[in-house]
Amino acid sequence: METSNIDNKLLAMRSVYDKNSALSIAERKTYLKKLYKNILDMQPEIYAALKADLNKSEAESYMTEIGMTLSEISFMLRHLKSFSKPKTKHTPLSNFPAKSYVLPSAYGLVLVISPWNYPFMLSVEPIVDAISAGNLVVLKPSEISPNTSNVLAKLIAKTFKPEHVTTVLGGVEECTYLLDQNFDYIFYTGSTRVGEIVMKKAAEHFTPVTLEMGGKSPTIVDETANISLAAKRIIFGKLLNAGQTCVAPDYIYCHSSIKDKLIYELERQIILQYSTDPLSNPNYPKMINQKQFLNMLNLIDKKEVVFGGKYNKNTLKIEPTILNCTFASPAMQNEIFGPIIPIVCFDNILEVVKNINSMAKPLALYLFSNSKTTQNLILNKCNFGGGCVNDTIMHIANPNLGFGGLKQSGIGAYHGKVGFDTFTHYKSIVKKSNALDLPMRYQPLSKFKQTLIKLFLK
Ligand code: NAD
Repeated sequence: METSNIDNKLLAMRSVYDKNSALSIAERKTYLKKLYKNILDMQPEIYAALKADLNKSEAESYMTEIGMTLSEISFMLRHLKSFSKPKTKHTPLSNFPAKSYVLPSAYGLVLVISPWNYPFMLSVEPIVDAISAGNLVVLKPSEISPNTSNVLAKLIAKTFKPEHVTTVLGGVEECTYLLDQNFDYIFYTGSTRVGEIVMKKAAEHFTPVTLEMGGKSPTIVDETANISLAAKRIIFGKLLNAGQTCVAPDYIYCHSSIKDKLIYELERQIILQYSTDPLSNPNYPKMINQKQFLNMLNLIDKKEVVFGGKYNKNTLKIEPTILNCTFASPAMQNEIFGPIIPIVCFDNILEVVKNINSMAKPLALYLFSNSKTTQNLILNKCNFGGGCVNDTIMHIANPNLGFGGLKQSGIGAYHGKVGFDTFTHYKSIVKKSNALDLPMRYQPLSKFKQTLIKLFLK
Protein backbone atom coordinates (compact mmCIF):
# COMPACT_ATOMS: atom_id res chain seq x y z
CA MET A 1 0.00 0.00 0.00
CA GLU A 2 1.27 3.45 -0.98
CA THR A 3 0.47 5.46 2.18
CA SER A 4 2.18 8.63 0.95
CA ASN A 5 -0.40 8.79 -1.85
CA ILE A 6 -3.23 8.74 0.71
CA ASP A 7 -1.38 11.24 2.94
CA ASN A 8 -0.99 13.66 0.02
CA LYS A 9 -4.67 13.45 -0.87
CA LEU A 10 -5.73 14.11 2.72
CA LEU A 11 -3.23 16.93 3.14
CA ALA A 12 -4.57 18.69 0.02
CA MET A 13 -8.15 18.33 1.24
CA ARG A 14 -7.34 19.54 4.76
CA SER A 15 -5.56 22.64 3.52
CA VAL A 16 -8.47 23.50 1.18
CA TYR A 17 -10.97 23.04 4.00
CA ASP A 18 -8.87 25.07 6.45
CA LYS A 19 -8.68 27.90 3.90
CA ASN A 20 -12.19 27.93 2.44
CA SER A 21 -14.26 26.03 4.99
CA ALA A 22 -17.37 24.28 3.61
CA LEU A 23 -18.32 24.07 -0.07
CA SER A 24 -20.43 27.10 -0.99
CA ILE A 25 -24.09 26.57 -1.94
CA ALA A 26 -23.18 27.37 -5.56
CA GLU A 27 -20.35 24.81 -5.55
CA ARG A 28 -22.62 22.14 -4.08
CA LYS A 29 -25.26 22.72 -6.74
CA THR A 30 -22.73 22.76 -9.57
CA TYR A 31 -21.24 19.49 -8.34
CA LEU A 32 -24.64 17.82 -7.98
CA LYS A 33 -25.66 18.83 -11.51
CA LYS A 34 -22.33 17.62 -12.89
CA LEU A 35 -22.61 14.35 -10.99
CA TYR A 36 -26.12 13.79 -12.37
CA LYS A 37 -24.94 14.40 -15.92
CA ASN A 38 -21.81 12.26 -15.57
CA ILE A 39 -23.82 9.35 -14.15
CA LEU A 40 -26.13 9.53 -17.17
CA ASP A 41 -23.14 9.74 -19.54
CA MET A 42 -21.38 6.83 -17.85
CA GLN A 43 -24.44 4.58 -17.64
CA PRO A 44 -23.06 1.94 -20.06
CA GLU A 45 -19.87 1.61 -17.99
CA ILE A 46 -21.81 1.44 -14.72
CA TYR A 47 -24.13 -1.25 -16.12
CA ALA A 48 -21.18 -3.26 -17.41
CA ALA A 49 -19.43 -3.08 -14.03
CA LEU A 50 -22.53 -4.17 -12.09
CA LYS A 51 -23.04 -7.01 -14.58
CA ALA A 52 -19.44 -8.16 -14.13
CA ASP A 53 -19.50 -7.93 -10.32
CA LEU A 54 -22.99 -9.26 -9.59
CA ASN A 55 -24.64 -10.19 -12.91
CA LYS A 56 -27.19 -7.44 -12.30
CA SER A 57 -29.41 -6.71 -15.30
CA GLU A 58 -29.65 -3.16 -16.64
CA ALA A 59 -33.24 -2.89 -15.45
CA GLU A 60 -32.41 -3.96 -11.90
CA SER A 61 -29.26 -1.81 -11.87
CA TYR A 62 -31.28 1.25 -12.89
CA MET A 63 -34.08 0.60 -10.39
CA THR A 64 -31.90 -0.17 -7.36
CA GLU A 65 -28.66 1.71 -7.97
CA ILE A 66 -28.64 4.44 -10.63
CA GLY A 67 -32.27 5.59 -10.40
CA MET A 68 -32.21 5.77 -6.59
CA THR A 69 -29.03 7.84 -6.73
CA LEU A 70 -30.38 10.22 -9.40
CA SER A 71 -33.52 10.74 -7.36
CA GLU A 72 -31.43 11.61 -4.25
CA ILE A 73 -29.49 14.17 -6.33
CA SER A 74 -32.74 15.70 -7.66
CA PHE A 75 -34.12 15.91 -4.11
CA MET A 76 -31.01 17.71 -2.85
CA LEU A 77 -30.96 20.10 -5.81
CA ARG A 78 -34.54 21.09 -4.93
CA HIS A 79 -34.00 21.51 -1.20
CA LEU A 80 -30.39 22.11 -0.24
CA LYS A 81 -30.65 25.92 -0.38
CA SER A 82 -33.50 26.02 2.14
CA PHE A 83 -31.93 23.25 4.26
CA SER A 84 -28.71 25.31 4.49
CA LYS A 85 -30.35 28.51 5.77
CA PRO A 86 -30.08 29.45 9.46
CA LYS A 87 -33.31 28.55 11.32
CA THR A 88 -34.69 31.06 13.80
CA LYS A 89 -35.73 29.61 17.18
CA HIS A 90 -37.83 31.00 19.99
CA THR A 91 -35.86 33.02 22.58
CA PRO A 92 -37.11 32.62 26.17
CA LEU A 93 -37.59 35.71 28.35
CA SER A 94 -34.54 34.81 30.44
CA ASN A 95 -32.39 35.58 27.38
CA PHE A 96 -34.09 38.84 26.41
CA PRO A 97 -33.11 40.85 24.33
CA ALA A 98 -31.57 38.39 21.87
CA LYS A 99 -32.11 36.43 18.69
CA SER A 100 -31.69 32.63 18.72
CA TYR A 101 -31.04 30.43 15.73
CA VAL A 102 -29.37 27.24 14.56
CA LEU A 103 -26.70 27.50 11.90
CA PRO A 104 -26.32 24.42 9.69
CA SER A 105 -22.60 23.80 9.20
CA ALA A 106 -20.56 21.09 7.50
CA TYR A 107 -18.49 18.72 9.65
CA GLY A 108 -15.48 19.04 7.36
CA LEU A 109 -13.66 16.02 5.98
CA VAL A 110 -15.89 12.94 5.75
CA LEU A 111 -14.82 9.32 5.20
CA VAL A 112 -17.39 7.16 3.37
CA ILE A 113 -16.76 3.39 3.51
CA SER A 114 -19.02 1.32 1.28
CA PRO A 115 -19.82 -2.40 0.74
CA TRP A 116 -20.05 -4.58 -2.37
CA ASN A 117 -23.75 -5.48 -2.60
CA TYR A 118 -25.13 -2.17 -3.96
CA PRO A 119 -21.65 -0.87 -4.69
CA PHE A 120 -22.75 2.12 -6.78
CA MET A 121 -25.72 3.44 -4.82
CA LEU A 122 -24.19 2.87 -1.37
CA SER A 123 -21.10 4.85 -2.41
CA VAL A 124 -22.69 7.74 -4.28
CA GLU A 125 -25.77 8.45 -2.13
CA PRO A 126 -23.75 9.20 1.02
CA ILE A 127 -21.50 11.44 -1.10
CA VAL A 128 -24.58 13.29 -2.41
CA ASP A 129 -25.85 13.91 1.13
CA ALA A 130 -22.39 14.84 2.43
CA ILE A 131 -21.56 17.39 -0.28
CA SER A 132 -25.10 18.83 -0.13
CA ALA A 133 -24.28 19.71 3.46
CA GLY A 134 -20.96 21.26 2.29
CA ASN A 135 -18.48 18.53 3.34
CA LEU A 136 -15.43 17.23 1.51
CA VAL A 137 -15.39 13.45 1.02
CA VAL A 138 -12.97 10.55 0.78
CA LEU A 139 -14.66 7.42 -0.59
CA LYS A 140 -13.30 3.93 0.16
CA PRO A 141 -15.39 1.55 -1.96
CA SER A 142 -15.27 -2.24 -1.57
CA GLU A 143 -12.42 -4.31 -2.98
CA ILE A 144 -14.90 -7.19 -3.40
CA SER A 145 -16.75 -5.43 -6.25
CA PRO A 146 -13.63 -4.21 -8.13
CA ASN A 147 -15.30 -3.39 -11.46
CA THR A 148 -17.76 -0.98 -9.87
CA SER A 149 -15.07 0.47 -7.60
CA ASN A 150 -12.95 1.35 -10.65
CA VAL A 151 -15.91 3.01 -12.39
CA LEU A 152 -16.67 4.94 -9.19
CA ALA A 153 -13.10 6.22 -9.05
CA LYS A 154 -13.42 7.37 -12.68
CA LEU A 155 -16.81 9.04 -12.08
CA ILE A 156 -15.49 10.89 -9.05
CA ALA A 157 -12.29 12.02 -10.77
CA LYS A 158 -14.40 13.28 -13.70
CA THR A 159 -16.87 15.15 -11.47
CA PHE A 160 -14.99 16.66 -8.54
CA LYS A 161 -11.78 18.52 -7.89
CA PRO A 162 -9.58 15.95 -6.11
CA GLU A 163 -9.20 18.28 -3.12
CA HIS A 164 -13.00 18.20 -2.68
CA VAL A 165 -13.98 14.57 -3.30
CA THR A 166 -11.59 11.72 -3.93
CA THR A 167 -11.43 7.91 -3.93
CA VAL A 168 -9.03 5.57 -2.17
CA LEU A 169 -9.18 2.10 -3.70
CA GLY A 170 -8.12 -0.95 -1.71
CA GLY A 171 -9.19 -3.34 1.01
CA VAL A 172 -8.72 -3.89 4.72
CA GLU A 173 -5.21 -2.44 4.82
CA GLU A 174 -6.17 0.84 3.11
CA CYS A 175 -9.38 1.09 5.14
CA THR A 176 -7.47 0.55 8.39
CA TYR A 177 -4.97 3.24 7.41
CA LEU A 178 -7.81 5.67 6.63
CA LEU A 179 -9.50 4.87 9.96
CA ASP A 180 -6.29 5.88 11.74
CA GLN A 181 -6.54 9.40 10.25
CA ASN A 182 -8.45 12.10 12.03
CA PHE A 183 -11.66 12.49 9.95
CA ASP A 184 -14.45 14.82 11.04
CA TYR A 185 -17.19 12.28 10.28
CA ILE A 186 -17.24 8.60 9.28
CA PHE A 187 -20.13 7.14 7.32
CA TYR A 188 -19.85 3.35 7.12
CA THR A 189 -22.03 0.75 5.38
CA GLY A 190 -21.23 -2.93 5.82
CA SER A 191 -21.27 -5.82 8.24
CA THR A 192 -21.82 -5.48 11.98
CA ARG A 193 -18.42 -7.13 12.60
CA VAL A 194 -16.52 -4.40 10.74
CA GLY A 195 -18.91 -1.75 12.10
CA GLU A 196 -17.55 -2.50 15.55
CA ILE A 197 -13.97 -1.97 14.31
CA VAL A 198 -14.98 1.34 12.68
CA MET A 199 -16.69 2.58 15.84
CA LYS A 200 -13.70 1.72 18.04
CA LYS A 201 -11.31 3.49 15.68
CA ALA A 202 -13.60 6.53 15.48
CA ALA A 203 -13.75 6.72 19.27
CA GLU A 204 -9.97 7.31 19.37
CA HIS A 205 -10.55 10.69 17.70
CA PHE A 206 -14.07 11.34 19.08
CA THR A 207 -15.24 11.24 15.47
CA PRO A 208 -19.03 10.97 15.06
CA VAL A 209 -20.22 7.99 13.01
CA THR A 210 -23.14 6.71 11.06
CA LEU A 211 -23.11 2.91 10.85
CA GLU A 212 -25.42 1.32 8.29
CA MET A 213 -25.33 -2.42 8.97
CA GLY A 214 -27.60 -5.43 8.57
CA GLY A 215 -29.21 -8.30 10.44
CA LYS A 216 -32.03 -10.82 10.19
CA SER A 217 -35.07 -8.84 9.03
CA PRO A 218 -38.26 -10.77 9.86
CA THR A 219 -41.24 -10.92 7.52
CA ILE A 220 -44.39 -11.75 9.43
CA VAL A 221 -47.45 -13.06 7.60
CA ASP A 222 -50.57 -13.59 9.68
CA GLU A 223 -53.83 -15.39 8.89
CA THR A 224 -55.60 -12.14 7.84
CA ALA A 225 -53.05 -11.28 5.11
CA ASN A 226 -53.69 -11.24 1.38
CA ILE A 227 -51.48 -14.30 0.81
CA SER A 228 -50.93 -14.11 -2.95
CA LEU A 229 -50.05 -10.39 -2.86
CA ALA A 230 -47.81 -10.98 0.16
CA ALA A 231 -45.96 -13.74 -1.72
CA LYS A 232 -45.50 -11.49 -4.77
CA ARG A 233 -44.04 -8.66 -2.69
CA ILE A 234 -41.87 -10.95 -0.56
CA ILE A 235 -40.33 -12.58 -3.63
CA PHE A 236 -39.71 -9.13 -5.16
CA GLY A 237 -37.85 -7.98 -2.02
CA LYS A 238 -36.05 -11.23 -1.33
CA LEU A 239 -34.72 -11.88 -4.84
CA LEU A 240 -33.49 -8.39 -5.70
CA ASN A 241 -29.75 -8.86 -6.15
CA ALA A 242 -30.39 -12.59 -5.40
CA GLY A 243 -30.98 -11.79 -1.73
CA GLN A 244 -27.71 -9.85 -1.26
CA THR A 245 -29.63 -6.89 0.14
CA CYS A 246 -29.29 -5.49 3.66
CA VAL A 247 -33.07 -4.91 3.92
CA ALA A 248 -34.10 -8.17 2.21
CA PRO A 249 -36.79 -10.13 4.04
CA ASP A 250 -34.39 -12.51 5.80
CA TYR A 251 -36.92 -15.11 6.98
CA ILE A 252 -40.68 -15.59 6.87
CA TYR A 253 -42.49 -15.93 10.17
CA CYS A 254 -46.01 -17.12 9.26
CA HIS A 255 -49.12 -18.28 11.05
CA SER A 256 -49.17 -22.08 10.92
CA SER A 257 -52.72 -22.11 9.46
CA ILE A 258 -51.60 -20.40 6.21
CA LYS A 259 -48.16 -21.97 5.75
CA ASP A 260 -49.10 -24.39 2.92
CA LYS A 261 -50.97 -21.72 0.97
CA LEU A 262 -48.10 -19.25 1.42
CA ILE A 263 -45.51 -21.78 0.21
CA TYR A 264 -47.67 -22.53 -2.84
CA GLU A 265 -47.94 -18.81 -3.64
CA LEU A 266 -44.19 -18.19 -3.07
CA GLU A 267 -43.33 -20.98 -5.51
CA ARG A 268 -45.80 -19.56 -8.02
CA GLN A 269 -44.22 -16.10 -7.71
CA ILE A 270 -40.67 -17.41 -8.09
CA ILE A 271 -41.72 -19.03 -11.37
CA LEU A 272 -43.71 -15.98 -12.55
CA GLN A 273 -40.91 -13.52 -11.74
CA TYR A 274 -37.82 -15.65 -12.57
CA SER A 275 -39.13 -18.56 -14.75
CA THR A 276 -39.03 -22.28 -13.98
CA ASP A 277 -35.25 -22.22 -14.38
CA PRO A 278 -33.80 -19.16 -12.60
CA LEU A 279 -30.26 -20.55 -12.96
CA SER A 280 -30.55 -20.02 -16.73
CA ASN A 281 -32.28 -16.66 -16.42
CA PRO A 282 -29.75 -14.07 -17.66
CA ASN A 283 -31.30 -11.43 -15.39
CA TYR A 284 -30.90 -13.44 -12.20
CA PRO A 285 -27.91 -12.14 -10.18
CA LYS A 286 -25.07 -14.35 -8.95
CA MET A 287 -23.35 -14.57 -5.58
CA ILE A 288 -20.57 -11.98 -5.46
CA ASN A 289 -17.77 -14.56 -5.07
CA GLN A 290 -16.91 -18.17 -4.28
CA LYS A 291 -16.77 -17.49 -0.52
CA GLN A 292 -20.28 -16.03 -0.40
CA PHE A 293 -21.52 -18.86 -2.67
CA LEU A 294 -20.16 -21.51 -0.30
CA ASN A 295 -21.52 -19.66 2.74
CA MET A 296 -24.98 -19.91 1.19
CA LEU A 297 -24.68 -23.61 0.34
CA ASN A 298 -23.77 -24.30 3.98
CA LEU A 299 -27.13 -22.85 5.03
CA ILE A 300 -29.12 -25.26 2.86
CA ASP A 301 -29.96 -28.29 4.97
CA LYS A 302 -31.26 -30.80 2.39
CA LYS A 303 -33.87 -32.17 4.83
CA GLU A 304 -35.42 -28.68 5.05
CA VAL A 305 -35.73 -27.92 1.31
CA VAL A 306 -39.33 -27.57 0.08
CA PHE A 307 -38.53 -25.77 -3.18
CA GLY A 308 -35.36 -25.08 -5.20
CA GLY A 309 -31.98 -26.02 -3.77
CA LYS A 310 -30.07 -26.35 -7.06
CA TYR A 311 -27.00 -24.26 -7.90
CA ASN A 312 -24.30 -23.78 -10.52
CA LYS A 313 -20.78 -23.55 -9.19
CA ASN A 314 -19.44 -22.13 -12.46
CA THR A 315 -21.81 -19.16 -12.57
CA LEU A 316 -22.09 -18.85 -8.74
CA LYS A 317 -25.90 -18.78 -9.03
CA ILE A 318 -28.17 -20.44 -6.45
CA GLU A 319 -31.85 -21.18 -7.06
CA PRO A 320 -34.38 -19.37 -4.89
CA THR A 321 -34.69 -21.96 -2.15
CA ILE A 322 -37.55 -22.27 0.32
CA LEU A 323 -36.67 -24.03 3.57
CA ASN A 324 -38.97 -25.45 6.23
CA CYS A 325 -37.11 -24.26 9.34
CA THR A 326 -37.10 -23.95 13.10
CA PHE A 327 -35.16 -21.33 15.02
CA ALA A 328 -32.42 -23.98 15.46
CA SER A 329 -31.87 -24.40 11.68
CA PRO A 330 -28.54 -23.32 10.14
CA ALA A 331 -30.33 -20.66 8.04
CA MET A 332 -31.77 -19.07 11.19
CA GLN A 333 -28.48 -18.38 12.98
CA ASN A 334 -27.15 -15.27 11.15
CA GLU A 335 -28.12 -12.78 8.44
CA ILE A 336 -28.49 -14.85 5.23
CA PHE A 337 -27.53 -12.51 2.34
CA GLY A 338 -28.60 -14.86 -0.46
CA PRO A 339 -31.71 -16.34 -2.17
CA ILE A 340 -32.61 -18.64 0.73
CA ILE A 341 -36.08 -18.28 2.20
CA PRO A 342 -36.52 -19.96 5.58
CA ILE A 343 -40.06 -20.31 6.90
CA VAL A 344 -40.78 -20.63 10.61
CA CYS A 345 -44.29 -20.73 12.10
CA PHE A 346 -46.19 -19.24 15.00
CA ASP A 347 -49.60 -19.89 16.55
CA ASN A 348 -49.85 -16.83 18.76
CA ILE A 349 -48.76 -13.34 17.67
CA LEU A 350 -47.50 -12.56 21.19
CA GLU A 351 -44.81 -15.23 20.79
CA VAL A 352 -43.68 -13.39 17.61
CA VAL A 353 -43.06 -10.18 19.57
CA LYS A 354 -41.20 -12.08 22.27
CA ASN A 355 -38.97 -13.99 19.83
CA ILE A 356 -38.13 -10.99 17.65
CA ASN A 357 -37.25 -8.87 20.67
CA SER A 358 -35.01 -11.63 22.04
CA MET A 359 -32.81 -11.47 18.88
CA ALA A 360 -30.47 -8.69 17.66
CA LYS A 361 -32.46 -5.63 16.60
CA PRO A 362 -33.16 -6.01 12.86
CA LEU A 363 -32.57 -3.35 10.21
CA ALA A 364 -36.06 -3.92 8.76
CA LEU A 365 -39.31 -5.63 9.67
CA TYR A 366 -42.14 -6.45 7.30
CA LEU A 367 -45.66 -7.30 8.39
CA PHE A 368 -48.35 -8.71 6.12
CA SER A 369 -51.64 -8.43 8.00
CA ASN A 370 -55.02 -6.79 7.54
CA SER A 371 -55.63 -6.69 11.29
CA LYS A 372 -55.23 -3.19 12.76
CA THR A 373 -54.67 -4.73 16.20
CA THR A 374 -51.79 -6.87 14.92
CA GLN A 375 -50.32 -3.95 12.98
CA ASN A 376 -50.34 -1.76 16.10
CA LEU A 377 -48.93 -4.53 18.26
CA ILE A 378 -46.00 -5.33 15.98
CA LEU A 379 -45.15 -1.72 15.08
CA ASN A 380 -45.26 -0.58 18.70
CA LYS A 381 -43.78 -3.56 20.54
CA CYS A 382 -41.02 -4.83 18.23
CA ASN A 383 -37.66 -3.07 17.94
CA PHE A 384 -36.35 -2.56 14.39
CA GLY A 385 -34.84 0.13 12.13
CA GLY A 386 -37.76 0.67 9.72
CA GLY A 387 -40.03 -1.35 7.50
CA CYS A 388 -43.35 -1.78 5.71
CA VAL A 389 -46.85 -2.98 6.41
CA ASN A 390 -48.04 -5.19 3.53
CA ASP A 391 -44.87 -4.67 1.47
CA THR A 392 -41.11 -5.18 1.55
CA ILE A 393 -38.13 -2.84 0.90
CA MET A 394 -40.20 0.10 -0.39
CA HIS A 395 -39.62 2.24 2.74
CA ILE A 396 -36.10 2.95 1.50
CA ALA A 397 -37.44 4.47 -1.72
CA ASN A 398 -39.08 7.47 -0.01
CA PRO A 399 -36.72 10.45 0.43
CA ASN A 400 -39.10 11.83 3.06
CA LEU A 401 -38.27 8.89 5.33
CA GLY A 402 -34.85 8.43 6.92
CA PHE A 403 -33.21 5.04 6.56
CA GLY A 404 -31.13 3.33 9.24
CA GLY A 405 -31.03 0.64 11.89
CA LEU A 406 -30.52 0.58 15.62
CA LYS A 407 -27.88 -1.03 17.81
CA GLN A 408 -26.46 -4.08 15.93
CA SER A 409 -28.22 -3.07 12.68
CA GLY A 410 -27.03 0.52 12.73
CA ILE A 411 -26.52 3.91 14.32
CA GLY A 412 -27.93 7.00 12.63
CA ALA A 413 -29.76 7.33 9.32
CA TYR A 414 -29.69 9.05 5.94
CA HIS A 415 -31.71 9.72 2.72
CA GLY A 416 -33.35 13.06 1.92
CA LYS A 417 -33.54 15.65 4.72
CA VAL A 418 -32.36 13.08 7.27
CA GLY A 419 -29.26 12.59 5.08
CA PHE A 420 -28.60 16.33 5.03
CA ASP A 421 -28.98 16.42 8.82
CA THR A 422 -26.61 13.47 9.25
CA PHE A 423 -23.78 15.37 7.59
CA THR A 424 -24.62 18.69 9.26
CA HIS A 425 -23.62 20.01 12.65
CA TYR A 426 -26.27 22.47 13.82
CA LYS A 427 -24.53 25.27 15.72
CA SER A 428 -26.85 26.77 18.32
CA ILE A 429 -26.36 30.54 18.47
CA VAL A 430 -27.67 33.25 20.75
CA LYS A 431 -27.03 36.72 19.28
CA LYS A 432 -27.34 39.17 22.14
CA SER A 433 -28.32 42.81 21.86
CA ASN A 434 -26.04 45.36 23.49
CA ALA A 435 -28.90 47.82 23.93
CA LEU A 436 -30.10 46.41 27.21
CA ASP A 437 -28.35 44.24 29.83
CA LEU A 438 -30.71 42.66 32.37
CA PRO A 439 -28.79 42.55 35.67
CA MET A 440 -30.36 39.52 37.36
CA ARG A 441 -27.71 36.88 36.47
CA TYR A 442 -24.71 38.89 37.72
CA GLN A 443 -23.19 38.59 41.23
CA PRO A 444 -23.96 39.55 43.88
CA LEU A 445 -27.17 37.53 43.62
CA SER A 446 -29.41 39.51 45.96
CA LYS A 447 -32.69 38.16 47.33
CA PHE A 448 -34.60 40.19 44.71
CA LYS A 449 -32.44 38.77 41.87
CA GLN A 450 -32.98 35.25 43.23
CA THR A 451 -36.74 35.81 43.17
CA LEU A 452 -36.51 36.97 39.56
CA ILE A 453 -34.31 33.99 38.55
CA LYS A 454 -36.84 31.60 40.13
CA LEU A 455 -39.60 33.34 38.19
CA PHE A 456 -37.80 32.84 34.85
CA LEU A 457 -36.30 29.40 35.46
CA LYS A 458 -39.08 27.04 36.43
P1 NAD B 1 -17.79 -5.54 5.08
O1 NAD B 1 -18.04 -5.10 6.46
O2 NAD B 1 -17.00 -6.78 4.86
O3 NAD B 1 -17.06 -4.42 4.22
C1 NAD B 1 -17.49 -3.08 4.19
C2 NAD B 1 -16.29 -2.18 4.00
O4 NAD B 1 -15.41 -2.31 5.11
C3 NAD B 1 -15.47 -2.47 2.74
O5 NAD B 1 -15.17 -1.24 2.10
C4 NAD B 1 -14.22 -3.16 3.27
O6 NAD B 1 -13.06 -2.87 2.52
C5 NAD B 1 -14.08 -2.59 4.67
N1 NAD B 1 -13.50 -3.57 5.60
C6 NAD B 1 -13.69 -4.91 5.60
N2 NAD B 1 -13.03 -5.49 6.63
C7 NAD B 1 -12.40 -4.48 7.29
C8 NAD B 1 -11.53 -4.44 8.43
N3 NAD B 1 -11.19 -5.53 9.10
N4 NAD B 1 -11.08 -3.24 8.84
C9 NAD B 1 -11.42 -2.10 8.17
N5 NAD B 1 -12.21 -2.09 7.08
C10 NAD B 1 -12.70 -3.25 6.64
O7 NAD B 1 -19.26 -5.62 4.49
P2 NAD B 1 -19.70 -6.26 3.14
O8 NAD B 1 -19.49 -7.74 3.21
O9 NAD B 1 -19.07 -5.50 2.02
O10 NAD B 1 -21.27 -5.95 3.12
C11 NAD B 1 -22.22 -6.83 3.62
C12 NAD B 1 -22.82 -6.34 4.91
O11 NAD B 1 -23.20 -4.99 4.79
C13 NAD B 1 -24.09 -7.08 5.30
O12 NAD B 1 -24.06 -7.38 6.67
C14 NAD B 1 -25.21 -6.09 5.00
O13 NAD B 1 -26.36 -6.28 5.77
C15 NAD B 1 -24.53 -4.80 5.27
N6 NAD B 1 -25.16 -3.75 4.49
C16 NAD B 1 -25.86 -2.80 5.12
C17 NAD B 1 -26.50 -1.80 4.39
C18 NAD B 1 -27.30 -0.70 5.03
O14 NAD B 1 -27.59 0.26 4.32
N7 NAD B 1 -27.66 -0.79 6.28
C19 NAD B 1 -26.40 -1.81 3.01
C20 NAD B 1 -25.67 -2.82 2.40
C21 NAD B 1 -25.04 -3.78 3.14
